[in-house]
Amino acid sequence: MNPEEKIKNLRNKLHIYNNSYYNRDESLISDFEFDSLMKKLEELEKKYPQFDDKNSPTVRVGGGVTKQFQSFNHNYPMYSLANTYSKGEIKEWIKRIEKRCGHNIDDFNCELKFDGASINLCYENGKLKRALTRGDGTRGDDVTSNIKTIKNVPLILSGKHPEKFEIRGEVILTIDDFNFLNKKRKEEGIMPFRNPRNTVSGSLKLQDSREVASRKLKCFFYSVVGENSCLYHSELLEKSKQWGFFIPQNMKRVNSINEIFDFIDFWEKKKSELPYDIDGIVIKVNSMKVQNNLGFTAKAPRWAISYKYKAERQSTRLVSVAYQVGRTGAVTPVANFTPINLSGSIVKRASLHNSDQIEKLGLRTGDFVYVEKGGEIIPKIVGIDELRRGSQKNLVKFVENCPDCGSKLQKIKGEAQHYCKNENNCKTQIIGKIQHFVSRKAMNIESFGSERVAMLYNEGLITNIADIYRMEFENLASLDGMAKKSALNLLESIQQSKKQPFQKVLFSLGIRHVGETVALKLANHFRSIENLVNSTNDDLISVEEIGEKIVNSIRVYFSNSENLSIIDKLSKEGLNFKIDEDKSGSNILRDKIIVISGTFEILSRETIKQLVVENGGKLSSVVNSKTKIIIGGQSIGPSKKRKAELLSIPIISENDFLEMINAK
Ligand code: AMP
Ligand code: ZN
Repeated sequence: MNPEEKIKNLRNKLHIYNNSYYNRDESLISDFEFDSLMKKLEELEKKYPQFDDKNSPTVRVGGGVTKQFQSFNHNYPMYSLANTYSKGEIKEWIKRIEKRCGHNIDDFNCELKFDGASINLCYENGKLKRALTRGDGTRGDDVTSNIKTIKNVPLILSGKHPEKFEIRGEVILTIDDFNFLNKKRKEEGIMPFRNPRNTVSGSLKLQDSREVASRKLKCFFYSVVGENSCLYHSELLEKSKQWGFFIPQNMKRVNSINEIFDFIDFWEKKKSELPYDIDGIVIKVNSMKVQNNLGFTAKAPRWAISYKYKAERQSTRLVSVAYQVGRTGAVTPVANFTPINLSGSIVKRASLHNSDQIEKLGLRTGDFVYVEKGGEIIPKIVGIDELRRGSQKNLVKFVENCPDCGSKLQKIKGEAQHYCKNENNCKTQIIGKIQHFVSRKAMNIESFGSERVAMLYNEGLITNIADIYRMEFENLASLDGMAKKSALNLLESIQQSKKQPFQKVLFSLGIRHVGETVALKLANHFRSIENLVNSTNDDLISVEEIGEKIVNSIRVYFSNSENLSIIDKLSKEGLNFKIDEDKSGSNILRDKIIVISGTFEILSRETIKQLVVENGGKLSSVVNSKTKIIIGGQSIGPSKKRKAELLSIPIISENDFLEMINAK
């Protein structure tokens, strides 16, 4: 095919898919495929501008307008959002808009991208005047009478609100309400709906508003239009809450690209626990002034971008549930199902997390379950196909005994997990603990992979983490598959690991709920294992981010004599069980609140953060009267700079900082 034909072909296809998706509520291909085709077309059109077409799907925002409802022009067009599946492109987006504005941008609002149907509401004198669907972006359908049935849409506003403005949101249906609706339909012998999103857009165009009211739709609001009394988008949303709008609480105002990535990663893991569907997140420039400066392309605002999760969902038959013991003794149920192809890989099992999830789902073997997998994420069971249930007598019941050592499982009050308490004799736990101890983020013992740990355990060379430091060359080298050189290398990296600082050693012990950050905080606060062991519960609670759950597990850990004896052995081997006060520098930053802004040349942002914490400082991302120092790099955020000047907070360079902590 020549380029012209290719372009025409893509346009044709996209027209068909688009029409089917927008006007008939039927997706012929997945969103991911659709977006990739669209991208391909965009690229080709950019490369061959001679084949330009005003009606290309790339210039259109959505589909056509349904005739039954009266249609109106939008006062402000309802644009699409630029979208991406890659973090690299988010970085590029920020660079692009910074270049366009001529200054650094470090204030963003991260929001969830709710998967429903968008709606634009006009309010005049405190009353809902008109509700328009997005339609083709320029013109939408008047569905006011239907929207009025949605219980969380205010018909009359409260508080001090503008006389006239418009607000946008997403009409959604929770997964529970969706399942309930389908159950009813099934009982009535009507075809069930495919998914919540299609159900919502179909519902908005129902002629009988009573039927709409029975569907329990909700509206989540995410932007106020035609109102410029606020400096920040987030502030405007906050204000509109007082007028009576439902603003979802899971948005986050952030100041750096790393925080944007954290938000993305957080929700990629957590999204299946939400009671409704999202298909990604939206990142918006928070300053209204900068938003206005950036404006719109023909299709989308320049000041926002959406990051979409590569999620694919399919249903498959649950064959059995197995149970796995982790290094902390937590027992995780794992579902085995008929293999399916998800996002390009064959999947046949997924974690069920804990007994609560099994109970909540009312899982039976033979059920058809929905499995979802996105990007690098492990597959998850997100629901049950109510229409294809297994037999009642095959209800899944959580095991009572450890599948490895057979001891009775226990459930700690307030925690969802079941635990095997036989920690010093349960093989899987012991191997898991050793694997954790040697891993990169822990003691970082090179050439000590998971399989090697298991082998050395099975050979009887190590039975706990202290044994690692007592292994001898002769024993190692005599093992099958262990060359002399690898034995030497292994012993060498074991010796090297003795240099790991206290916080790493503490993390390596594998105390339940004591992850990297908690270990760092505990190490900085207590300075030595002795102080930690002898601390009172009140001492522990006073440490930032340490709650009752962590206090309990620390107590349990140190009340086990075997653990104490292992620590004693490790300490005799020369591992660091206290902070090296010489190396950790002074406590010069103790309790000082420090903000990092801009880009740096000598150190990475991560290293600076670590150094701040190691020297007793506290990190924050907002500048206020509590801020003591700002470590500023190149192109430090202008709003931060202004605030610093206003509050007379010193801005120091990375060199100054290194000097300050005596690291130079
Ligand atoms: P798209 O349909 O992928 O072009 O994305 C634009 C649509 O995302 C909007 O019309 C809204 O329906 C939807 N959306 C969901 N959540 C948000 C949000 N937090 N901010 C903006 N748009 C959102
Ligand atoms: Zn066990």
